[in-house]
Amino acid sequence: MLIELAKNLDRISLGQLEVPRRKWRQALETIPAGLRGALERSARNIAAAHSASLPRTIICEPEPGIVVTRRPDPLKRVGVYAPGGRAAYPSSVLMGAVPARVAGVAEVVLCVPPGSDGGPAAVSLAAAEIADVDRLFTIGGAGAIAAMAYGTETVPRVDKIVGPGNAYVTEAKRQLTGTVAMDALAGPSEVVVLADRSATAESVIAELLAQAEHDPAAMAIALVLDEDLSKAVIDQLPDAIAREQRSGIIARALSTRGGILVTESMDEAIEFVNSIAPEHLVLAVSEARDIAARMTTAGTICTGAGCSVAFGDYLTGANHILPTGGSARGGSGVSVLDFFRWTTIQDVSIDARGSVAADVSILANAEGLPAHARAALVAASGDVDQTTFSSVRLDENTMLSSPSPGVQQALAAIKPSTITSYPSVRGRGARDAIAAYIGVEPEWITLGCGSDEILDAAFRAFAKPGDTIAHADPTFGMVPIFARANHLEPVAVPLTQDFEADCDGLLTNGPAIIYLCSPNNPTGGVVRRDSLERILRDAPGLVILDEAYVEFAGSHNVDLVRKWDRLLVLRTFSKAFGLAGLRVGYAVGAPGLIAHLDDVRPPYTVNAFAESAAIAAVGPGLPWMRERVGETLHVRSRLLAALADAGISVLPSEANFALITDIDSTAVAAALERSGIRVRVFHGLTGIGDAIRLTIGPWPVMDRAITILRRATQ
Ligand code: PMP
Repeated sequence: MLIELAKNLDRISLGQLEVPRRKWRQALETIPAGLRGALERSARNIAAAHSASLPRTIICEPEPGIVVTRRPDPLKRVGVYAPGGRAAYPSSVLMGAVPARVAGVAEVVLCVPPGSDGGPAAVSLAAAEIADVDRLFTIGGAGAIAAMAYGTETVPRVDKIVGPGNAYVTEAKRQLTGTVAMDALAGPSEVVVLADRSATAESVIAELLAQAEHDPAAMAIALVLDEDLSKAVIDQLPDAIAREQRSGIIARALSTRGGILVTESMDEAIEFVNSIAPEHLVLAVSEARDIAARMTTAGTICTGAGCSVAFGDYLTGANHILPTGGSARGGSGVSVLDFFRWTTIQDVSIDARGSVAADVSILANAEGLPAHARAALVAASGDVDQTTFSSVRLDENTMLSSPSPGVQQALAAIKPSTITSYPSVRGRGARDAIAAYIGVEPEWITLGCGSDEILDAAFRAFAKPGDTIAHADPTFGMVPIFARANHLEPVAVPLTQDFEADCDGLLTNGPAIIYLCSPNNPTGGVVRRDSLERILRDAPGLVILDEAYVEFAGSHNVDLVRKWDRLLVLRTFSKAFGLAGLRVGYAVGAPGLIAHLDDVRPPYTVNAFAESAAIAAVGPGLPWMRERVGETLHVRSRLLAALADAGISVLPSEANFALITDIDSTAVAAALERSGIRVRVFHGLTGIGDAIRLTIGPWPVMDRAITILRRATQ
């Protein structure tokens, strides 16, 4: 196809498209020494000027814990198009290929149109050798652009195409933009020569003619600040055109897009130039450097003694592939930066991710993109990396992730005066938020320093020394301890064979308080609602329902407080909400119960941090909690299935832990500990025997635990 195009359009029959390197070397040897020297000098200057603006990696820390790195990566393969045909443009070979090489592009491919002898001109081949191009193809026009954009059997597909060309090349580049990266689309060349009386008519004319000889559509305008100079230019121009070799092209260009404009005001001249954004601007004025500082849209500006666009076209080392048609308003000429793409690397530290996720979720929700908000919250939850964890506490049934971004934000926002003042009595400020979360009025709620504190106070408030307190056995270990501390007698009532609460047993002898835990710690089972109602109906005193793990269960019973004014439900922020270290829990019960409970407790047991965290936890932190719980339930079912598969006994669980039974708990716990996993060990649990309790953590940790359990139980 490309060979056919060459035959039809260039009237040339091509043997093969690729020109072997040997021919470029030969060409370099055969061109005149002066030409070779000039090409080499040009290439050296291009390399030097472009090396000076090589980009570097930029590392920035917009705020502590966030590091944004922007790294320039050289493109892998670049296509350079150098126009040719009747004339050869070795300078375009250098302007495209040398900066690509300087940038570190791995492979530079060059396409040059065939000359009349069927191959590129020797001087273009020599330039390819000087520029150290990798592969060279004799293909011209739109076909060359398409070949490099798509790749053919012969021509490799490139990542970017640079280089000027005729209208067909430009149209091909326009159509293929998007398929491959391109430099700016080149239109006819342009120059504005700004001249004052320090310039000569001859130099102004020379610049106009040089630009006009490119193309009948080239633009060449003299902007003259001196009437005499403009007259001289107008007088001398016709003869000067006539003397030129390419006078026909020049005359057409100047008659359609040429002009000599006169102004007395430098400000006006500057405004004019900035508004048309010419490809080239020659400043043939005194104080040219100062004026250059005010010229903000030109593709390139030529200043200095005897300045000429031609200097830059060939030798200064600045690039001559420049924006035309006013596109210099928003674009720049080819530079070394054209041969890089940038990779940004964004790193958010463990410490920063919570607060980042907080604002990300606000923004994402505001944009109606809840999955983004969730992704941020999940990332902030910081599951333990399976390869890096060295010690994980799976003995406390707490969260292994950081607290919710909402909570972290609330804690970070605590004012100094909040610390220097007393907090509200018993975290009253949080009551409304918790009441709304539970669906009761605020007087149905009281907060405590963990649910532990409320449990202890309840024993004091609702029983007198010597009374009995009945509890399921096994259950939360602090219950008998708090009972004895309050001079009560704990009565342990074994669970049934199905690990359920024994209602009759618990009601026997009418204890002052009956304590139930659902899901129960450490068995993980829930109290059936009918059992609970039966106990509430027949109990003579207070019934405490400890719902420390309720968020992980399929059901809850807090609504029964409305029906039974002897029911006190305990909840905690230590487990699902991940706030164990802040010590905050709450109780829900009839207002009379709550008031009586508060009578036996000291004030201020809920500190300001705990209170703020609790408010955030049931407010902005709620989606986070639900997300974490969802993950835990997912891992829990995987864990229980894997343990069952491995023949390891485990009780069904509705909590964030699993009780593994029928094992040598000491030996297994020691094996786990050696592997960095700490679990809770039980000996001789009533009706169960030895067991270990494993908090549900991230799957990689569970996976490791399963492997060790398997080995230990074989
Ligand atoms: N109840 C049960 C069943 C528990 O397991 C625990 C703690 N492990 C608590 C209450 C105490 O929780 P808090 O941190 O709220 O005092």
